[in-house]
Amino acid sequence: MFDIIEQAHLAELHFKSDPTSGLKSIIAIHNTKLGPALGGCRCIEYDSDLDAINDVIRLAKGMSYKSALARVPQGGGKAVILKPKGTFNRQSLYNAFGRFVNELGGRYITAIDSGTTLEDLDEVGRVTPHVSGNHSDGLDPSPNTALGVLAGMKAAALQRYGNSKLKGLTVAIQGIGNVGFHLASLLHEEGAKLLVADLDEQKVRQAQNVFHAEPMAPDQFCSAHCHILAPCGLGGVINEDSIQQFNCDIIAGSANNQLATIEMGQRLHDLGILYAPDYVINAGGLIQVSLGMHRASNAEISNKTWGISETLYDIFSRSCVENLPPSTVADMMAEEILYETHGGA
Ligand code: NAD
Repeated sequence: MFDIIEQAHLAELHFKSDPTSGLKSIIAIHNTKLGPALGGCRCIEYDSDLDAINDVIRLAKGMSYKSALARVPQGGGKAVILKPKGTFNRQSLYNAFGRFVNELGGRYITAIDSGTTLEDLDEVGRVTPHVSGNHSDGLDPSPNTALGVLAGMKAAALQRYGNSKLKGLTVAIQGIGNVGFHLASLLHEEGAKLLVADLDEQKVRQAQNVFHAEPMAPDQFCSAHCHILAPCGLGGVINEDSIQQFNCDIIAGSANNQLATIEMGQRLHDLGILYAPDYVINAGGLIQVSLGMHRASNAEISNKTWGISETLYDIFSRSCVENLPPSTVADMMAEEILYETHGGA
């Protein structure tokens, strides 16, 4: 385990077992150079404890990189709850998790993620102030995540076509969920043509009715003939199979961990497909939650979110100059912020 910790440059790893509530949870704090670690709490089933440890460390590291490039005053952290088998009392589980978060004294701030709900975070908030995004603070991150993806698409269009306008471009969206629906709305306003896929047919019908989107079967998404492919469902969309099917110029969507392996970044670069690194383009939710906690105005949050466009444009420019994939350039830029010391005399 210590090898994994050292390779990831992880600062802290905390474990909690609470037999009364059934809580088994791990919190990883990756880096706090820029501020307290902020990151969601996942509650899912894991095949093994080691899978959960690997997941929480990888996700915490991703949050450090995301915060660094979004230039918000947060470090990277993440929590996982190993979902109890069978029925369990959510209230006592999330109260116990809240006490665990509280023991860390604010070095880690938790938020919503896969398998947790705003109601669960309300329970966490009863026992610790170190939580963001529940019913009491009204910091729903999804609409702002969608705005950030729109800003990122504009940067990608400018890089690829010399014009940031999305009007007339065809955008294929996978996943008309919390983010995908808001993104479809923004793109519709911009005058883009929409292709949409979701496992839930009702969501597809809604997008057809509201945004005149053209429906696609879920398995047609990767081969969709379009300008921009926007994965807004699950991770791992860019993999050995799908990379042979892509029929687009740009990949820019909200899903986390889109590259199944790091090498996929190089493969897209070699194919001439412009990839907007996921943790850069989907930082709008983090910006909303972080700045919201610091009582920033809506205008400040919006400005910062539009800044995703500039960050991506810098990444694309450096990618061209150094002939490196944008995913590699983004990692390098985040590591420069997190690890390089600019010592004076
Ligand atoms: P969501 O669960 O509300 O929506 C996901 C949608 O994708 C669902 O409608 C689901 O049916 C659909 N879907 C899943 N697999 C699919 C497939 N194979 N084909 C077609 N549709 C499929 O989730 P969300 O909150 O909108 O988040 C979407 C993605 O963006 C996730 O990867 C999430 O981690 C990431 N993300 C979300 C936020 C946020 O603010 N919500 C912030 C950063 C990143």
